[in-house]
Order: sequence, then C-alpha cells, then structure tokens
Amino acid sequence: MESFEKINQNIRTVFRSGRTKSLEWRRAQLMSLLKMLDVNREKFSQVLKEDLNKCKSEGLLFEIDFTRNALVDSINKLKKWTTPKKAKKGLLYTMDKAYIRKEPFGVALIIGAWNYPVQLTILPMVGAIAAGNCVVLKPSEISLNTAALLEELVPKYLDQEAVQVVNGGIQETTALLKEKWDYIFYTGNSMVGKIVMKAAAEHLTPITLELGGKSPVYVDEGVDLGIVANRIMWGKCTNAGQTCVAPDYVMCSKTTQEALTEAIKQTLQNFYPDGPAKSPDFCRIVSDKHYQRVKKCIQGGGTVAVGGDVKDEERYVSPTVLVDVKFSDSIMQDEIFGPILPIIPVENEDVAINFINTGPIGNTPLTLYVFSSNTELRNKIMKETNSGSVCFNDTLSQCNLPSLPFGGVGNSGMGAYHGKYSFDTFSHKRSILERELKMEGMNDARYPPHTDDKYAK
Ligand code: NAD
Repeated sequence: MESFEKINQNIRTVFRSGRTKSLEWRRAQLMSLLKMLDVNREKFSQVLKEDLNKCKSEGLLFEIDFTRNALVDSINKLKKWTTPKKAKKGLLYTMDKAYIRKEPFGVALIIGAWNYPVQLTILPMVGAIAAGNCVVLKPSEISLNTAALLEELVPKYLDQEAVQVVNGGIQETTALLKEKWDYIFYTGNSMVGKIVMKAAAEHLTPITLELGGKSPVYVDEGVDLGIVANRIMWGKCTNAGQTCVAPDYVMCSKTTQEALTEAIKQTLQNFYPDGPAKSPDFCRIVSDKHYQRVKKCIQGGGTVAVGGDVKDEERYVSPTVLVDVKFSDSIMQDEIFGPILPIIPVENEDVAINFINTGPIGNTPLTLYVFSSNTELRNKIMKETNSGSVCFNDTLSQCNLPSLPFGGVGNSGMGAYHGKYSFDTFSHKRSILERELKMEGMNDARYPPHTDDKYAK
C-alpha cells in the first residue's frame, strides 16, 4: 500500500492535469459507476446481507437502486448543471461578459459510515465526480464486506488514477486526515465530526458533515393511529433502526400513548407475521459493540410494552416499545440507533417543543417528524423549532426526493447533498468577468488623483 502522502500527491497531479474537468471524463466515469452497480447488483445485495442482514428489497430500495437513480439523474442533467450561468450586469459592464462557472474543488476525501455502506459512499462520490473532482473514498471498516467489495470493484470500473479507495479504521482515517484535501465529506457520528472539522481547519479545507442525533416524533390528537403506527415503525424497523433519520422517540398524550402502543403491536404483526426474529426482512445490529449499546437501551427507561427480546449469538434486538419514558431517563440522553422506540407522555406540544429545543445532545435534530392534520399546530412547531428537515405525517420519505437537500444543521451537521445539491456541494462557484482593453475613458473616475469634480461629472 502506498503512503497516504504519496496517494495524495499522485492524485493531485492527476487533478492538475485537468482531465477530470472535461465533461466527457465525468460522463464516462458516471456511466462506469452505473455499470458497476448494474453488473454487480447481486454482489452488492450479498455484502449488505453479510454486513447487516439487510434483505434484498431493503438493500435495493435504500441503497443500490437509490444510488442508481441518483446516477441516472446526474448523467442526464450533467450538461445543464455544468453550463455557466450568466450574471446580471450594471451599466458600467455593458460591454463585458460576467458569468459563474461551477468548478471542482480538486481532490475530495469522502469518509463513509457503516449503516448504509453502499449509499453513503457512492452517493457523495456521484456528486464529486459529476463536479469534476478526483476522489479518495474511505468506506467504514465496520461494514467490512461492503468496504472490501468497493475496494475490489472501484478500480475495475473507474479511472484508477483519479478515484481511489482506501480501506482501514481509525488509524488510517487519522493518517488520511493529516493530508491536505480540497474537500472533505464526512458521514458519521458527531464526536468524530469534530475530529474531522479540526483536521480540516488545519488546511482550511471546506467540509460537509452528515451527522446524527435524536430525531423526534410528535403525535397529535385525532390522527389515524393505525396509519401512524405503520409509518413510525417502518422508519424505526428499517435497517433495525440503524438509520440517521430514524424516528428516535415519540412524544404524545398519555391516551395516545396507550392507543398507539396497541396499534404498533398490530403493525408489527402485519410486518412480521412469524415474528421479527424469523423474518428475512429484519436486520441485525452491525457489531458486538453496537449490539451491547442497543441492548442496554431496553433498560434505558419506562416499561417494556412491546418486544424487548434479544439473541446474543445473532446480535438480534426485537422491535421494542418503551412506554412512560421520562426525559431524564438514560435512553433520552443519546441517539438510540436501534429498533427501540421510547414513548414520552407529554401534556401538550409546548412541553415537546421545549425538549426539542433544550435536548441533551443539541437543539437541532437531523429531522423532525410531526403527525397532525392541524395546520395551526404544524405552523407553531415549524416556527418554534429548527432541524435539518421536517416531515409531516410520514417518516424517512423526505430523503427520497432528490429535489430536497439532505443534511443537518447545528449539531446534526452542516452542508447538504442529494440530486443537484450533491453537484453543488462539490463545486466551487467561480466568478468570471471578461472585459476588453477598450473604452478606457470610462475608467477615468476611478483612477487617482481623486478630485471632487471627477465624481460630479
Ligand atoms: P463509523 O463508525 O462507520 O464511522 C464513520 C467513519 O468515521 C468511518 O469511516 C470511520 O473509519 C471513521 N472514524 C471512526 N472513528 C474515527 C476517529 N476517531 N478518527 C477519524 N475517523 C474515524 O460510523 P458511526 O459514526 O458509528 O455512524 C453512525 C452515526 O452516523 C450515527 O450518529 C448516525 O446518525 C450518523 N449518520 C449520519 C448520516 C447522515 O447522512 N446525516 C448517515 C448515516 C449515519
């Protein structure tokens, strides 16, 4: 393995040669990436199964096809996105050309997380390549089968000199972060986010941080709890709750808590008729360390009303509902990142808003979910809170629209991507003014000596 310094130098030389800037190169690379996904569809499904026990349809829906759709969209819109945009001009610039070109930053370091190991690596790479950058990709060492497959396939399909995969853990990532990159795109937890930001600051490298947190759900009175239960538990059970935008906890009235718990039992019966442990559709916790953490959450507060089962040998944690949880309970102090749903009975929306705004791990969740048909209440929550995104009456679906930027705010991250926002994230807006060496008389007033009569003219 070459040293990271050498990798950095070599890839920088490739960028300086200018070849990644051409539209032909970008289109060819994106087409190859598409081919890589299509030809190796089964292999990608297989590694997702090995890493997370992800069933085929979940892998396709949330990772492989999700990424594929973004690729097709980028290929189709590349020309439009890269066309320079004319800028407005004042009278003094009548004869000139003023425009903005979206240009690549240079060499982008992309550090992925394990929970969606295909999507969280390839999707940012699509944006980086579409924008004409070179890429060093560092997949998560925890989803090791996916990481190994990416290391095997990417050099087979993409320009080996301009796009490289580096595998490794904390030691390797730490060493990579010592080098100067032109852009860093990091997905993972906030603690490491701070490490990445400090490292980037050393070189004044721009960054995107896609972090996590506790995404709240508020359930209003008078909503159809059968539907609400389906939509919350879909968000909570997908990837066994190991989703950055998973609904973390629910706040509702005491009466709603009771009815919602009953509705959730029915939902789980419908989702997993033979029980989630036997269902091929229910994922496992990714590693022993994470399993121990999630398992502990079952005793994290309140009373177990649904589930609460574990199987150590499989790292299985059943979908679990905890009722009568308090804000001060241990499960409410950190992101759960597992299939456990605490419900906190609250008197009214003000109590819920207050917790969102003063919560222990920050006041700006990645996503905020509200189940309500009351426009006034929805507006009030919008007005009095802040979050990366908001989704009314559903979970997860806001991430599936490429026209909506995906990203956090404050402690849940900075910057955003998906669709054109991925291209924009990896592009520098270069301002260009083209003038002619003519009409020098027009410039008389700007040159010294500065006398009053010049401006009065
Ligand atoms: P992880 O353990 O895979 O870490 C992410 C990356 O950081 C890996 O590539 C890893 O090698 C690197 N890393 C880990 N420790 C490091 C260190 N000390 N120094 C330098 N690099 C280090 O993933 P994770 O952090 O467990 O991921 C889960 C978290 O990520 C959750 O908080 C989740 O909400 C968040 N997340 C956010 C998004 C998003 O798009 N906003 C998506 C997925 C996950």
